[in-house]
Amino acid sequence: MSLMSGVFEAIEDALAHYSVKKVNLVKLKVGRLTNAEPDALQMAFAAFAKDTICEGAELKIEMVPVKGKCRNCNREFQVENWNFTCPFCEHLGVEIIEGEELFLESLEVEE
Ligand SMILES: [Zn+2]
Repeated sequence: MSLMSGVFEAIEDALAHYSVKKVNLVKLKVGRLTNAEPDALQMAFAAFAKDTICEGAELKIEMVPVKGKCRNCNREFQVENWNFTCPFCEHLGVEIIEGEELFLESLEVEE
């Protein structure tokens, strides 16, 4: 799962300058547009974490709602139910500004 390999690269980068014995908790923010299911992420995480300092770490996932910005009236709004029509002017051209990303929010480690 390529999303998860990106997460582990971010973890390695974050820990590169520290001597860490063990990672206890990994927090991820996951945009709803990634189509990533929390269960699938948990499984991918466990598979990637095996034999690394992340083995046994708890994974917390926070789903991030989708936010769009209307290309017509420039107002920002939360996209509900995959409805990409602007609620203010009903324009159908929307720029996605949040909800497409998956990123590492924080780590808790044992030094
Ligand atoms: Zn609009």
